[in-house]
Order: sequence, then structure tokens, then C-alpha cells
Amino acid sequence: MNTEKYKQLIDEIKPFNAKLIAVSKTKPVEDISQLYNEGQRIFGENKVQEMVWKHEALPKDIEWHLIGHLQTNKVKYLTPFVAVIHSVDSIKLLQEINKQAERNNRVIDCLLQISIADEETKFGLSEEELHQLLSSKEFLLLKNIRICGLMGMATNTTDEKKIGTEFSNLKKLFEMVKQKYFAYQSYFKELSIGMSSDYKIALQNGATLIRVGSIIFGDR
Ligand SMILES: *Cc1c(COP(=O)(O)O)cnc(C)c1O
Repeated sequence: MNTEKYKQLIDEIKPFNAKLIAVSKTKPVEDISQLYNEGQRIFGENKVQEMVWKHEALPKDIEWHLIGHLQTNKVKYLTPFVAVIHSVDSIKLLQEINKQAERNNRVIDCLLQISIADEETKFGLSEEELHQLLSSKEFLLLKNIRICGLMGMATNTTDEKKIGTEFSNLKKLFEMVKQKYFAYQSYFKELSIGMSSDYKIALQNGATLIRVGSIIFGDR
């Protein structure tokens, strides 16, 4: 836990229109409490079970963001409390989130994860799949979810130019999707890009949410 680094990061993102998601995966609740006491309220986790027990153990005004891959059968554990799900990559998953949200009398904010990196291991929709999803009849029926924007992970490389290109392509796609499907929906506004290694590049390319873990909490 490095509160100095945290404060520097907060100062650094201030000039940008972006929020920090403190990625606390694998870290103990003591670390999260410490950051909470510095004023941080948004935390990101990538595993459902871990997020559930941390939510139970910690103050209830924390906004929990799920940033990792989500399996359909685990959705129900999150829906009572999750703030934003960043990793939606299929209509099937979205339908399950909608169903569970309805049971909880909630409308759940979701981001669609787009595959922008070279690596095949990274989850996410292609541009074509994104259009298919947003123009499908099934999608129009969903009343208990809100698509608030797009999420992406750049290729794991030191080539900053390449990372910049991937982020700026996603930003362009975001603008296009906004115009085409969400022109009158002010809630479609989030671009979730950037982690410890590339958040500076993400901020330069229009990030509204950056997901930073190891800079703040130390290596995992
Ligand atoms: C772990 C993780 C992060 C944060 O990674 P750091 O390198 O620790 O900042 C961001 N996004 C996703 C999807 C992650 O799984």
C-alpha cells in the first residue's frame, strides 16, 4: 500500500475528466480500508467471490466495479450490490444480468468490453459483434441494464505508439457507437481504458475510467 503514490495519481488525473478505479484484487481488506480512509470510494475486483466477501466486510458506500471476465452462473451473486460491470462481452451475459437485476429491482450499469489487443487471450467483442449486439431485438428488450460505455485492454507491450493507436481506435469506436445507438442517452459516456502501465496514454486518449492496481497497492 502506497498512499503517497495514490495521492500523486489523484493529482495527476485531476486535469482530466476521469475517475480512478482502485484495483484491489488479491489485496487484503486492510489495504482497501486504508485507501478508503484517504477518500477513495471506487474499487475494482476481477473475481466474483472475492468481491462478494470484500463487499460484506467493508463500508457500504463503496462502489464496486467488476473488471474481470464474468461467467453467467455467477451473475446472481453480484447483482444485489455491484455498481458497474466492465466486462460484458455477449448478449447471453447481458440477458442474465438483466434478469437478475430485475429480481433485485435494479438497473445495472454495464460496459461492453471490446477486443482491441493483439493477444487472443483477451476477452471482448469485435467491432462487428458489437454492432450485432446493439442492433439485435434481444438487446432492445432489456430494461434492467444500461450500457454506459466501452472498456478495453491494450496489448501488453512497451510500444507506447501501439498502445496509443489501440486506445484512440477504441475512442473513435466509442464516438461512433454513441452517435449511432445512444445519441440521446447521456449515460453512455464512459471509456474504461488504462492500467498501471498505460494509464497516462489512456488519459491522453479520452479515458473516463482508469483501472489502476499495482501502482497503488504494490505488485501482486
Ligand atoms: C488487474 C487489472 C487491472 C489493473 O492492473 P494493474 O497493472 O495492477 O494496474 C486493470 N484492468 C483489469 C481488467 C485487470 O484485470
